[in-house]
Amino acid sequence: MQDLSHFIDGALTPGSSGRFADVFNPATGEVQARVPLASKDELDDAVARAAAAQPAWGATNPQRRARVLMEFVRLLHRDMDKLAEALSREHGKTIPDAKGDVQRGLEVAEFCIGAPHLLKGEYTDSAGPGIDMYSMRQPLGVVAGITPFNFPAMIPMWKFAPAIACGNAFILKPSERDPSVPLMLAALMKEAGLPDGILQVVNGDKEAVDAILDNPTIAAVGFVGSTPIAEYIYSRGCANGKRVQCFGGAKNHMIVMPDADMDQAADALVGAGYGAAGERCMAISVAVPVGEETADRLIEKLIPRIEKLKVGPYTAGDDVDYGPLVTGAAKERVLSLVNSGIEQGADLVVDGRDFSLQGYEDGFFVGPHLFDRVTRDMDIYKQEIFGPVLSTVRTQSYEEALAHAMDHEYGNGTAIFTRDGDTARDFANRINIGMVGVNVPIPVPLAYHTFGGWKKSGFGDLNQHGPDAFRFYTRTKTVTSRWPSGLKEGGEFHFKQMD
Ligand code: NAD
Repeated sequence: MQDLSHFIDGALTPGSSGRFADVFNPATGEVQARVPLASKDELDDAVARAAAAQPAWGATNPQRRARVLMEFVRLLHRDMDKLAEALSREHGKTIPDAKGDVQRGLEVAEFCIGAPHLLKGEYTDSAGPGIDMYSMRQPLGVVAGITPFNFPAMIPMWKFAPAIACGNAFILKPSERDPSVPLMLAALMKEAGLPDGILQVVNGDKEAVDAILDNPTIAAVGFVGSTPIAEYIYSRGCANGKRVQCFGGAKNHMIVMPDADMDQAADALVGAGYGAAGERCMAISVAVPVGEETADRLIEKLIPRIEKLKVGPYTAGDDVDYGPLVTGAAKERVLSLVNSGIEQGADLVVDGRDFSLQGYEDGFFVGPHLFDRVTRDMDIYKQEIFGPVLSTVRTQSYEEALAHAMDHEYGNGTAIFTRDGDTARDFANRINIGMVGVNVPIPVPLAYHTFGGWKKSGFGDLNQHGPDAFRFYTRTKTVTSRWPSGLKEGGEFHFKQMD
């Protein structure tokens, strides 16, 4: 069995804590590697080394920093197949989906090549007689990112690419479920020319996370994962005086109006509900048809499409729509929520509980499930399931459907399917959710916009990637200067009026 490591000062570094976690191949259920779990001392040591390396990197001009990312993008294209294979082997998602994971991170690295422009700051010439004023964006120093299992390439890159482009050193604590790709990304950054110590990958669990939150050198923490952990990290990080942004769980509703193209809506729901086995924070997990007739037509279109879904290992290539869940525990949790839905009175119209795949009986596969007549008091409605389970909540009016999405505690993504521009516009304006799709089921913003949910899906003021990332990873310093004549006036004891 392979022993994985950390990546410290530009080199793979074995763990010294003596603690490890198993890394599974979710398709077979076998343990394929062990990942070291860092102690507080290991984490603090990585931070101290990053702090020593950061001043020189922060003083490197932004164009040179951007060139490292330019080369990194080229290397990602070169190694795309290798990265996708390693990702699928630990996560379970299909190869095209794994390539999408890398691609969506790569696009943020591309955006960060614009760092020289994004960091230019502001300048006012002659703010007063002989007085100029300028604001500059300076790096924070050492910053950290704590990332989830479901996008092991994309989300680390969403964090470290802008942070490093801004001149910071970055401590990445990836998910312990699929740590190989983050290690490969760090090696590619080194190959692209990043100085040692600027990107440290420290593997670990709660101990490493708590060490990040308590380390006084770390100025900012970005987190993506489940909401209870997001809340914990946000409050402990803020209490320790850090800048913190945390992105949590989701329960994304898709409203289907009576005038929607029902084939288009059904196709969208199947892709958005079951793609990546539902392990996406932007997955649609609740379909909300408006009107009984709409609901009947939608269910009729969904059933044959869901029954045709092909579930299997990534090695089966194009023959697979989605793969296994990430762990046996995740599988058990999803199946227990399905059983709770039945017990609480929902109609299970597609039942995937008996799904089994010859030769992969120990894999963490879960067949697709579709519930109809789900009500808002049921656990399958209230909780994020994070599996291939779609719930249908029937509503009688647009206002009722809108209220359902608005009343839910999560506010990551949502969508409306309609042919009516007025309804779509009203929905986009009134909904209290961060990312909205109009006839688009998974409205993940591109790299140059920002990504972030509302309510219990996001904590902190700024979003991920886009211009917000450059605000999050820098602080503003404003200089007021007067040359030279104004210096001759003698002391002043009141604020100078700029007139
Ligand atoms: P998770 O919360 O279990 O883990 C996320 C990170 O937190 C990991 O690095 C993990 O090691 C660490 N962690 C776990 N338990 C901890 C604890 N008790 N104390 C300190 N740190 C801890 O999440 P996950 O299962 O890896 O990812 C799935 C979740 O992430 C889902 O809820 C999904 O919706 C969410 N997610 C959200 C977004 C978004 O942008 N809003 C994107 C992707 C995933």
